[in-house]
Formats: sequence, C-alpha cells, structure tokens
Amino acid sequence: MGIINNSKTDPNKILPITYKWAREYYQAGVANNWTPEEVSMQKDIEQWKSRHVLSEAERRMILWNLGFFSTAESLTANNIVLAVYNHITNPESRQYLLRQAYEEAVHTDTFIYCCDSLSLDPDEIFNMYKTIPSIDDKDAFVVDLTKSVFDPTFSTEGTENIQRFVLDLVGFYVLMEGIFFYAGFAMMLALKRQNKMIGIGEQFEYIMRDESLHLAFGCDLINTIKRENPEIWTSSFQDEIVGLVEHSVELEKTYAFDACPEGLLGINPAQFAVYVEHIADRRLERIDLAKRYHRDNPFPWMSQATDLSKEKNFFETRVTEYQTGGALTWD
Ligand code: FE
Ligand code: MN
Repeated sequence: MGIINNSKTDPNKILPITYKWAREYYQAGVANNWTPEEVSMQKDIEQWKSRHVLSEAERRMILWNLGFFSTAESLTANNIVLAVYNHITNPESRQYLLRQAYEEAVHTDTFIYCCDSLSLDPDEIFNMYKTIPSIDDKDAFVVDLTKSVFDPTFSTEGTENIQRFVLDLVGFYVLMEGIFFYAGFAMMLALKRQNKMIGIGEQFEYIMRDESLHLAFGCDLINTIKRENPEIWTSSFQDEIVGLVEHSVELEKTYAFDACPEGLLGINPAQFAVYVEHIADRRLERIDLAKRYHRDNPFPWMSQATDLSKEKNFFETRVTEYQTGGALTWD
C-alpha cells in the first residue's frame, strides 16, 4: 500500500478508489472547464492598438507576463507527463495528472490566442524565458532542481530517491505554480481592476483558478508521500525545502520589481514583496512547515478573484457556463 513504490497497484484498475481526494480534484477540474476562445478579446485589441490607454510600462508588464507564463505552462506540463506520471502509478492520481496536463495545454493555448489576437511577435514572447534574466532565473531554478527525476534510470526506491522525487513535486507545485505564478497573477488582475485588458485579465483569472487546484493537489500528493514514508521527513530535509522557498521568494520579488516598476498600477512595488511573502507562508503551512514571514495579505481582492460565479459571467456576457458544482476551496 502506498501512492509510490507500490508494485501491487494495477494502474488500469481505478475501482475501488484508495485516494478519494485525488478523484475529487479530477471532478473539480472538470467542473471548472473553460477555453480561451470563450473570452472576447475585442476590447483588449482596441486598447492595445490605441496609443492612449496603456502606458509603455504597462505594455512591457503585459508582455513580460505573457512571456513568463507562455513557457512556464509547458515546462509544467512536461514535468507531469515525463516525470511525475512515471512514478505515480495510482490510477485516481493518474486520472488527475491527465486532467492537469490537459489544463496546462489549455493555458498554453491561451498564450497562443493572446499572441494571435494582439498580433504579438511570437518569437519575442516565447523566447523571454531565455532573454529576460529574471524570467530565466525562475525557470532555471526549478528546472535545475528537478532534472534528476527526468533521468530515465531514476527510480523512487529508497529514502534519498523519494526525497529527490518530493523535491521535484515541491519545485513544480509549490515553487513554480505556488509562488512564481502569483506576482504575475496579481499584476494582471490589478490591471483588469482598472478596466485595462479585461479579456486577458479574465483569462488570467481562469488560469489562476486552475492553478490553485493544481497546487492543492500537489501539496496533498506531497503530504501523502510524507505520511506513507515518514523517514524522508528529516529536519535537514525540511530545512532544505524551507531554503528553496526562501530563495524562490527572492527570485519572485526580483521579477515583480523588474516587471512592475515604481508607481505602475498604483501599486508600490514593496507591496508585491509583502504579497509574495504572504503567499509563501500559506504554501509552507500547506505542507506542514512553519510560517517564516507573518505578513498580512496586501491584496485582499486576490483571494476573491478565484471565485468566478455565474453572476459575474452573466454580467460579462460570457456564453458558456461549465461550472456545475464545486466542492473544494481553492486558495
Ligand atoms: Fe497552468
Ligand atoms: Mn498548473
């Protein structure tokens, strides 16, 4: 019995279900279904073409966030399909991983749709993970941390290998999706609150709602592996994870200051630093580690943004409503 290293698991036999939470994430993901084409880009196109709506700094901030997310989404999808899926043989967890991989494809599609709608230079956007240092630093940090799991000879047998596998999960679920996505979410949603680029803003809201499920699933996966393999959770391993979170917080602050300089969006860049620290504490607590920063959320509107209700979509004249239920809280 166990979510990893269980030779008795038949990956093709999903019933009876062992991990009900994994199945619930699958159902919540399906209930949240959306596609980028459902969101009108008409107003965004007008604002992007107009010389009077967006400042140069706002344009640059939008391009940077499109650039960061366009490749971070496919890095995440590749990690699921090429690394995590190999080692998690439990069928209900795999069912969710397949759903998540699909959602990452939807997110990648969103950035294709944005590039097309605004006639952006795709080379410029999709190369930013190499050309912009504070984007490259974030991606390189996660990729470097997780590359041993991509080795075809890697197995999760033994304490050290389980720890390496957990570091992969921490790298993508906690650091990438849980920390590196959030300053960008805050910037794009702050812009939307000013009625600028509301189509892209709405797409970011849907992505954020999906990501909050991804990271919650990832944390439950980490917590399950820990509970089933308590020998991995040594104090030095815990310190290692806390150190990675602290380093990620610094990289994310650097990104936020670079992408959103002084005064842009009416936000003092120091507030992004507080926000990233606040988010990092919530991630630490989610995997049973102590808070480090003790910051109040400077953007309380961010916690409401994932709650996309029917009414909101009605007033914004969105045609399709897939949300049929929704049992989980995602923050
Ligand atoms: Fe995503
Ligand atoms: Mn994701």
